[in-house]
Amino acid sequence: MDSTTMRATTAGRARRRPKTYGEDRVCGADRCETRLSRYNRNQFCFRHAPARFPRMRGEFTEEYLAKHS
Ligand SMILES: [Zn+2]
Repeated sequence: MDSTTMRATTAGRARRRPKTYGEDRVCGADRCETRLSRYNRNQFCFRHAPARFPRMRGEFTEEYLAKHS
């Protein structure tokens, strides 16, 4: 086997890096200094990220009202 060819092939393959969003970023919220993961594309830490309530809609079912009223 030709070792020169092998080396060239290996070097030619671009190494894929996962997409990152910069290092040393901190949360965008006031006075929050939580470091953000470079893989976190949000501007805020998990506590300050815009809250989403995907389950909220299911919360006020008839069953819920029956239990809590
Ligand atoms: Zn934060």
